[in-house]
Amino acid sequence: MEELIIGSHVSYKKDTGLVGCVEEALSYNANTFMFYTGAPQNTARSKINLELTQKAYKLMNDNHIDPKHVIVHAPYIINLANSNNHDFSVRFLKEEISRCEELGMTKLVLHPGSHVKFTKEEGLNNIVSSLDEVIAEDMKVHICLETMAGKGTELGNLDEIKYIIDHVKNNSSLMVCLDTCHLNDAGYDLNNFDEFLKEFDEKIGIHRIGCIHINDSKNERGAHKDRHENIGLGYIPFETLLSIIYHPALTEVPKILETPYVSENDDSKTKVYPPYRFEIEEIRHKKKNANLLEDIRLFYKKD
Ligand code: FE
Ligand code: FE
Ligand code: ZN
Repeated sequence: MEELIIGSHVSYKKDTGLVGCVEEALSYNANTFMFYTGAPQNTARSKINLELTQKAYKLMNDNHIDPKHVIVHAPYIINLANSNNHDFSVRFLKEEISRCEELGMTKLVLHPGSHVKFTKEEGLNNIVSSLDEVIAEDMKVHICLETMAGKGTELGNLDEIKYIIDHVKNNSSLMVCLDTCHLNDAGYDLNNFDEFLKEFDEKIGIHRIGCIHINDSKNERGAHKDRHENIGLGYIPFETLLSIIYHPALTEVPKILETPYVSENDDSKTKVYPPYRFEIEEIRHKKKNANLLEDIRLFYKKD
């Protein structure tokens, strides 16, 4: 049987670079991870440290992490749908692709964008023309368009992603990142995942799925909210998430948790403990942990 490829979002810090990412992933017993090359909400990016990158590759090799399963997430201030930001977004996305190449990463997750003051059609066409500018013919990086919750003027349901892929010239560089929270919030029924995959395959093609974000949702199906919840604590049944994670057609696709950090106690607003080690354990054992939050707090409080 194929080994499950699972990890979580980890943080990339200037002083530890990619090594810090790998170490954090290993502390969760993950065999892959996803990171932003800097703060997701701004464009401050430090130069990539080659020595740290080489050390990270050694560490990945020693611990059976395949770099081709590691994911980079583009900053969400890039909005290709809004042509008022066109020059900035295109330039920044190009720089982000260069950083991926420098780090040896081949999958970059991108939010398609929000059409804001434009019509949906204009927004989609802005995305298409921007991607045409960004995608170079010899590009090794695949841009994975993320399915979105449809919050505000956000684009990124299956039909919109299909439209983008169908209209971009060099579309062999385009893939899709499924996000279970976003799909639920967008209104898709994940409880019959085979049905969903059939629809996806007809519209886009299963071979395009490059990454899956595994999140529970704080909201009911169709709420268009985009608020992630820890595994088993929200509206998506644990069994449903398992049916996606272990789907035989998707064994090669990395699964990435982006669930929220856990606070010290139920009253506290500050989220301090990463849940991933424990959620990965639940997923590997295919068994829901009824004391998830308590176990996380206990584990991290000790040290
Ligand atoms: Fe995302
Ligand atoms: Fe996501
Ligand atoms: Zn989200």
